[in-house]
Amino acid sequence: MARIVMKFGGTSMAGMERIRNVAARVKHVVEQGHEVAVVVSAMAGETDRLVGFCKEASPLYDPAEYDVVVASGEQVTSGLLAMTLKAMGVDARSWLGWQLPIRTNEAHAKARIGEIDTVDLLASMGSGTVAVIPGFQGMMEDGRVSTLGRGGSDTSAVAVAAAVKADRCDIYTDVDGVYTTDPRIVARARKLDLVTYEEMLELASVGAKVLQTRSVGLAMKEGVVVQVLSSFDDPTQDDLPGTLIVSEEELEAKLKEDKMERQLITGIAHDKNEAKITLTRVPDRPGAVAHIFGPLADAAINVDMIIQNVGRDKGETDVTFTVPGADLARALDVLEGQKDVIGFNRIIPDTKVAKVSVVGVGMKSHAGVASAMFQALADRGINILAISTSEIKVSVLIDEDETELAVRVLHTAYGLDAPVA
Ligand code: ASP
Ligand code: MG
Repeated sequence: MARIVMKFGGTSMAGMERIRNVAARVKHVVEQGHEVAVVVSAMAGETDRLVGFCKEASPLYDPAEYDVVVASGEQVTSGLLAMTLKAMGVDARSWLGWQLPIRTNEAHAKARIGEIDTVDLLASMGSGTVAVIPGFQGMMEDGRVSTLGRGGSDTSAVAVAAAVKADRCDIYTDVDGVYTTDPRIVARARKLDLVTYEEMLELASVGAKVLQTRSVGLAMKEGVVVQVLSSFDDPTQDDLPGTLIVSEEELEAKLKEDKMERQLITGIAHDKNEAKITLTRVPDRPGAVAHIFGPLADAAINVDMIIQNVGRDKGETDVTFTVPGADLARALDVLEGQKDVIGFNRIIPDTKVAKVSVVGVGMKSHAGVASAMFQALADRGINILAISTSEIKVSVLIDEDETELAVRVLHTAYGLDAPVA
């Protein structure tokens, strides 16, 4: 017997027919003798609809009331799933965020989970009752409803799994796992059996939209084994068909067991929501760069890639960097306000850029990953505008129109294409 947290996303909960499918899947796991908690999202599109109402009510809505409104989507699906399970003869009950409670900090609309009380929950699960928990919502210190930020029910599921010390957290979604790259771009993308937390964290943060980034960070910190799988596969199939997210040690052990070589590159991600800013003729002297990035940091704008060009004559240089596209207008505003302090000449924004990243723990022990990337792109005439690296990732900024081509070229260059059937 195992203790399993099952999480179902919005597509899996969209309408009664799908909720009945989810219930059948839960029933199947319960009948194998496992103790089960289910975390659910609102029906697909519902949270957007509720956000729309808030904006209509007041453009400057009160975030506390926003949370009351948007948390309702998950309240509906958790109640409906518990009802459906009972109608199928499976004992179940819902536990709203404030009933457990799932305690969060005091940040409406972007709260972080602190502690989850599990005494009553575990007693109920132990007596054979399936716990159905709405994702995305919690309760603040003052008793008010909070929500976790968009996509937050993945994080709810991982937090519940950590709190009840679950053997596994199965995240059911509309894809059947994590792929080497977006299968809509590369038809020969392959589903990964195993990926490490670190890799998943990089892939999630550079645009592979399978899991909320924060949920992966939490799983890594708490050592929760997460599996991503499709809610549309056959529910009675008992092996583990999805992608398992594990620690590097677990990955090593598994590879040894299967006598497999570790891949150099695990996946390729892309992100078109980047914007590039160039400041021309910035004085080339100590402190100049601090004058640019200090105020951006104060405005909570994340700067990702940075290049300071070689100084021109007269002690001036151009500085180029990227920010999230959504923050571009604010970043320009901040920089214009600092124009005299920074002392630049012109500010040139560009939203027609994309970031393409290759990710893999195998990189740690191999040189030449970055140069292979640059060569493969150069061979296809793709110009690189900026570069950034981490221990397990190399990212390049390119023209947005060349995104798909770059992803395909790199997928082939690193030997990731599935064999033609
Ligand atoms: N329903 C919320 C959203 O759409 C939370 C989630 O589904 O993860 O963002
Ligand atoms: Mg989601």
